[in-house]
Amino acid sequence: MRPIVVIGSSNTDMVVGAEKIPVTGQTVLGGAFKMVQGGKGANQAVAAAKLGGNVYLIAKLGEDVFGEKSLVHFRKTGVKTEFVSRDTRNSSGVALICVDKNGQNIIIVAPGANGDLSKKDVLKAGSIIAKASCVVLQLEIPMKTVEFSIRLANKLKIPVILNPAPAKKIPNSILKLVDIINPNETETEIITGIKLKNEKDYKEAAAILRKKGVKTAIITLGSKGVYVDSTEFRGLVPAFKVKPVDTVAAGDAFTGGLAYGISNNMKLKEAVMFGNAVAAVSVTKAGAQTSMPRLGKVIKLINRS
Ligand code: ADP
Repeated sequence: MRPIVVIGSSNTDMVVGAEKIPVTGQTVLGGAFKMVQGGKGANQAVAAAKLGGNVYLIAKLGEDVFGEKSLVHFRKTGVKTEFVSRDTRNSSGVALICVDKNGQNIIIVAPGANGDLSKKDVLKAGSIIAKASCVVLQLEIPMKTVEFSIRLANKLKIPVILNPAPAKKIPNSILKLVDIINPNETETEIITGIKLKNEKDYKEAAAILRKKGVKTAIITLGSKGVYVDSTEFRGLVPAFKVKPVDTVAAGDAFTGGLAYGISNNMKLKEAVMFGNAVAAVSVTKAGAQTSMPRLGKVIKLINRS
């Protein structure tokens, strides 16, 4: 199977529950502490690897216990780590999360080593990128590294999937080099200026993305599924009906599933449907990387629907 190359972030999320989120200067007693693997790059790499994909992650970790733990975790989930480098100057990326009894949260992200992922780190993986079925990117690493990676993939004629999260404006000079973009509703609004309320808006926003030069626009719409605009297919691909437990990282599950589908030579519509199925199974389980399903569960959902 041709490699899937994910270039992106890895974080350690540290979560504490509390009755109330403290205000400035206040100390409150919290509940249980949880430490989980996160970061959009790592989430998407783990999603594709758990399905059985041949996944290489290009990422940067600190020389600390968090980096060590992430590496062990990647190896356990089957993500190839030859191109996960260590940063001696910065700590590993961490997110400090406090959740109150109503599920409201405050989050501080310290990007650390993620902010140091450079062109040089990407170039080191040039020989793998040249053999890849697709290169998958998000926006939690420096924009200049994202741009360099896209240009390199273009030069090597390898399709680029850009998951433009977290929401940011992206220059048209970058968008025109992207094969597939898959923003959610918020991200679509930031890039196109269109607030998505109905199918007419989906169509209009997707058309704007295409006009900016993206070959395929896939707008993810939560429980409604996705709207696709490409030369092969245009229209809504509905989500699978499931009972959601936790929709954290649904977009990452979708992206990992889509990349897996493409690396398995699925046609676009089939790969999108497969991505929907992976994301649907993921929302039935709590967590980010822990909720990413194995292939068997995804096939079971597809067969029963
Ligand atoms: P993000 O997590 O980036 O905000 P979305 O909320 O659009 O992205 O979800 C991504 C994909 O996950 C959707 O396009 C859909 O396939 C799937 N999904 C999300 N929520 C549900 C749900 N409640 N039921 C089934 N599928 C879902």
